[in-house]
Amino acid sequence: MKNISIKKNDVVTVEIIDLTYEAYGVCKVDGFTVFVESVLPGEICEIRIERIEKRYAFGKVLNLVKVSPSRVEIKDKVGTRIGTMPLQHMAYDAQLNFKRQLVLDCFNKAFPVDEKLILEAIGMDNPWEYRNKAQIPVRELKGVLETGFFKRNSHDLIPIENYHIQDVEIDKTIIAVRNILREFKIEAYDEQNHTGLIRHIIVRRGQVSGELMIILVTLGEVIPHEREIVERILIEVPKVVSIIQNINSRKTNVIMGHDQKVLLGADVYYDSLLGKNYGISSKSFYQVNTLQTERLYTKAIEFANISKEDVVIDAYCGIGTITLSASDYANHVYGVEIVEDAIDMAQSNAQLNNVENVSFEVGAAEDVMKMWVENGIKANVLIVDPPRKGLAHSFIEASVEVGADRIVYVSCNPITLAKDVREYAKHGYVIQKIQPVDMFPQTTHIETIVLLKKDMTQ
Ligand code: SAH
Repeated sequence: MKNISIKKNDVVTVEIIDLTYEAYGVCKVDGFTVFVESVLPGEICEIRIERIEKRYAFGKVLNLVKVSPSRVEIKDKVGTRIGTMPLQHMAYDAQLNFKRQLVLDCFNKAFPVDEKLILEAIGMDNPWEYRNKAQIPVRELKGVLETGFFKRNSHDLIPIENYHIQDVEIDKTIIAVRNILREFKIEAYDEQNHTGLIRHIIVRRGQVSGELMIILVTLGEVIPHEREIVERILIEVPKVVSIIQNINSRKTNVIMGHDQKVLLGADVYYDSLLGKNYGISSKSFYQVNTLQTERLYTKAIEFANISKEDVVIDAYCGIGTITLSASDYANHVYGVEIVEDAIDMAQSNAQLNNVENVSFEVGAAEDVMKMWVENGIKANVLIVDPPRKGLAHSFIEASVEVGADRIVYVSCNPITLAKDVREYAKHGYVIQKIQPVDMFPQTTHIETIVLLKKDMTQ
């Protein structure tokens, strides 16, 4: 190994040459890579070396010597410390360019493409206060129950009242619930000793309907003063339609447990998306940025170019939002999803909107896809929207058999997207366009839609 000349606490002047997908600026000190937060490519800054690992180090900015034209005033330095807004120092149009470049880099690593295929990222008019869901850890600090967020790469809670990227009604609701829990002297969860009661407060808001769902995640089963707390919440947060107690007794970073009780209303709140109404239950996935989801789905459906002759498969369908949005244009849409609860919602959402040309199946997409193929189901269009880990190899194999001539891949992770697209290319599918959509402003996350078409000449 090369001798490392830098030492902890060294102060050096560096030029930032790159920005990682985790929003760290990259610079070199004597050829050794150093990562720095809150800087931009092209900037020259004085940094102090804080931590040295085997192959890289972390530095902290002391002074900006040359400032990037893409730098903007930050909203709140806490947003960088907790990692909720690691790009807040970058102008929004520069964020969009950076994200397009991220997608291009992922493709270049796994499956090089012509840069022209990647369109400009679709951004938000107001890239703030967009999240319709918050999962807020609750801890005790200096004897007081606090809500906030963990410092990046730690479990130290920093109290926060304004999160800047969440719906303001959600921020208000968290404060109201926090105050009520304090009033009734309810204990916060103590992670080290695995004692106490309230682990998380989850708030979800239908941004069109205004309806709120509150989930109290608890370690134990009993919430002292439960009735009074529910009544107080109803007074302070009149738009709440559902309060759920979710019990998570395990030592785990997974937020929600299996068992739960409905404390108010039912396990559902409603929202609208592209003119259809959706019931959403506490354990169902729902895209966190409602406005951009409408743009995302509209683009995905435009790419799919669906007509009344087309049979469509929507794999990883959640509560059926893409399925029902596509149903207006299609002959029939089949949806598949692994969470039973989400499929129950999808069925009732079809009824709620009087949609009859859809059918839903619960199960792993890879298994159900095989079953559909065995049952002779043919589809012209395949839409997939998998979680971050992407598609199972067996899913890709089975889905090729279904005979779609168009595949629309909606992805929240460009790394797995590029690898999966490379697999489809081996089966004769050719990339037509790649459309990044910014669902998560101020963060490095990016949603991407890829249109693939079967090359009929092969
Ligand atoms: N298209 C939906 C959901 C996308 S999120 C929407 O836009 O709202 C991805 C979904 O895939 C989640 O609902 C998750 O529960 C589901 N899922 C995860 N693994 C799966 C698998 N192996 N088979 C089917 N669905 C799966």
